[in-house]
Amino acid sequence: MVKKIAVIGAGVVGLSTAMNIIDSIPFVSVTVIADKFNTETTSDGAGGLFRPNYNTTPGIPKEEMMQWCKDSLAHYTRLLSSSEANKCGVSFMTGFLFGQKPLDDFASLVSYTFQNLSSEQITKMNFNYKYGAQVTTLVAECRRYLPWLMSKFQEKGGHVLKHTLKSLEELVGHFDIVVNCTGLGSKYLLPDESVYAVKGQLIQVEAPWIKHFYYFEDDPPAYIIPCADRVALGGIRLKDDYTTHIDPEVSKGIWERCTSRIPSLKNAKVLWEWAGLRPHRIPLRIEKEEMNFPKGQLKVVHNYGHGANGVTLSWGTAVCATKLVKEFVLTNSNLESKL
Ligand SMILES: Cc1cc2nc3c(=O)[nH]c(=O)nc-3n(C[C@H](O)[C@H](O)[C@H](O)COP(=O)(O)OP(=O)(O)OC[C@H]3O[C@@H](n4cnc5c(N)ncnc54)[C@H](O)[C@@H]3O)c2cc1C
Repeated sequence: MVKKIAVIGAGVVGLSTAMNIIDSIPFVSVTVIADKFNTETTSDGAGGLFRPNYNTTPGIPKEEMMQWCKDSLAHYTRLLSSSEANKCGVSFMTGFLFGQKPLDDFASLVSYTFQNLSSEQITKMNFNYKYGAQVTTLVAECRRYLPWLMSKFQEKGGHVLKHTLKSLEELVGHFDIVVNCTGLGSKYLLPDESVYAVKGQLIQVEAPWIKHFYYFEDDPPAYIIPCADRVALGGIRLKDDYTTHIDPEVSKGIWERCTSRIPSLKNAKVLWEWAGLRPHRIPLRIEKEEMNFPKGQLKVVHNYGHGANGVTLSWGTAVCATKLVKEFVLTNSNLESKL
């Protein structure tokens, strides 16, 4: 019998999970339910740099995080080598990491190339940092990647419903399995009090001469990430700040930090600014739960709390969540031989 699966959330985590399920589990009907799509999501505004950073994903065993990164990288690499490369918003990106403390070596294990720079090379580039590396990674520009994922999902027969859920109980009796990819929404929907916001802000500028990314690991950090038609300048991390307006003081700080490091940016035209709330949870939650409500029981797979690394980890964590969905499907089912 066809299993009815609902994936709650249409950010990069929800859409990646929905795609994984529809691609790898036979006899399922998958519906994405969300109240925000595309430009309304946090994912849309992300810088989109594939930058695995173990320090910003606490509470996860290193091997597990490594597997998520490897699965994500393999997926993005498949896209980059396919005829979809032009449409999906994913591109190779070479750039530089700099810091006053030794760089997190995690990125070196899951980037295409990672070359430490000598202090001489750093000085030659006119930067005043103790540590530096030249890295080849990728950027997934969510303004193009999310609509692309959605169109592929729908081509494969996936359904979409725009709806705000007040409780998962609403889904009891309508779906066999529910996958919760609501990011910060889990704080209110479940509710899960361990989810918290870390506000970020970006200035998008027109600066076609910037061809590389720069990431300065200061506190607060400064980063410059180019994509097809603009360059994102960041960043800021404001824990427990739930406001979503653009704070002019924060913008001023980002502008000063980025233009003092890359002075040519002073000539860049500002296109727009954006603020978003990173959905943090320690640890990021991927697990099965059988939830009991007055209306009945619901089989739920959780996949939320990706914090500052949602674009980087989305595919890898989707693979992991899909395995848990398969385990639920196999319970009381004779599909085992087909999976
Ligand atoms: C300034 C900034 C820069 C960033 N840069 C990067 C970067 O360079 N690289 C990187 O890897 N990550 C980056 N991130 C992090 C990344 O944006 C997030 O980790 C990621 O977007 C989280 O995705 P998500 O799908 O979990 O959440 P979201 O994109 O927020 O999606 C949540 C979905 O759940 C739905 N939902 C929630 N509650 C309900 C409900 N009750 N009913 C119905 N639907 C509901 C919403 O409608 C939405 O569709 C950045 C974040 C910020 C703020």
